[in-house]
Amino acid sequence: MSEKLGRNNPCWCGSGLKHKRCHLGREQKTPPTLEDAKKLLKESFDKSYCLHPDSESGNCKGKIVNAHTIQRNGGLSKIAINNHVYKLVRDFSTISSPTQVEPKLIGIRKASAFTGFCEYHDTKTFERIEKHPFTGEINQIFLLAYRSLAREVFVHECQHAHAKRLQDYDRGLDITLQKEFQERHKYYCHGLSLGSKTLNRQKSIYDKALLSRKYETMNFFIILIDKCPEILCSGTSILEIDFQGNRFHQLGRADIDQDIITFSIIPTDKGGAVCFSTLDNSEDTKSFFNSLKILSKKQLPNAIARYTFAFYENTFISPSWWEDLKGNIKESLIARMSLISILPDDCLLDDGFKYVNWNITDILTS
Ligand SMILES: [Zn+2]
Ligand SMILES: [Zn+2]
Repeated sequence: MSEKLGRNNPCWCGSGLKHKRCHLGREQKTPPTLEDAKKLLKESFDKSYCLHPDSESGNCKGKIVNAHTIQRNGGLSKIAINNHVYKLVRDFSTISSPTQVEPKLIGIRKASAFTGFCEYHDTKTFERIEKHPFTGEINQIFLLAYRSLAREVFVHECQHAHAKRLQDYDRGLDITLQKEFQERHKYYCHGLSLGSKTLNRQKSIYDKALLSRKYETMNFFIILIDKCPEILCSGTSILEIDFQGNRFHQLGRADIDQDIITFSIIPTDKGGAVCFSTLDNSEDTKSFFNSLKILSKKQLPNAIARYTFAFYENTFISPSWWEDLKGNIKESLIARMSLISILPDDCLLDDGFKYVNWNITDILTS
């Protein structure tokens, strides 16, 4: 029992602090308010620095910009209404009661942007995808992947900073609830640490490829479609499950180098493109790509919709498409996006819903 713990002993929660500086008397402290939680969230994400590998040599120029993972002009603007798109947003202000996601309209100036590149590196690095039509050339595929990964690294660092500062958000709770809170918090931080390890390792691999322009070995699966996709996305995920519901058993493991998949859905001048890619070349990544390859052109579009909503929060939705969806289809997408921790085995399998109506015009593979 914590009452018996000496004031100068290490606290029971494992923070490494003395009990008197940590949990002693925490139940009598004033609980954090919703305003405190919102402020903490804002502060934790209020970072700006350049993620380009050359920034270490002091080669940045200009201020840190709002780098868009999905182009604002010709990208988000194509699906927006009054310059707004939907995003399914989770309230991250507290981890004590994780909530379901909700659709929120957000301005395209803010959507998908992160303050992770200086003006010079943002313009110079992504020119080939920002200023030239997407043709599926390997450097464009790599740059889409690089941008997704850079954002993931950035957001992950912010989340980590946020998580550390949530450690005392059990203020005012009784001891039993404090213990439950700390248990969840420890589990959450452990997951974030593992994620950081993978993302930092992958970032250095992608940085090397970026600088040397060596990305011919990249694995990719690109689906070209005949219309502008109603869902745009840019994200990175650790390999977890394939399109037939087979698990890869990589998640949560510190003893292996976890593989990642980068994923983008972008508009193109002929319609749209869905890009899966990775620089990893393991048996698991091969199986993942095979699980995509065996889907028919008829099955692929809805499989992609299911995948997007199960895996990627950096997803933007056409308001007119969303508002026209039937209630049960909306609910299914919200339920997918609301999933936390382990995804169910069948989350990518056909659920009978028709989410999108895309015709595939071509498939490019590595
Ligand atoms: Zn403590
Ligand atoms: Zn820079």
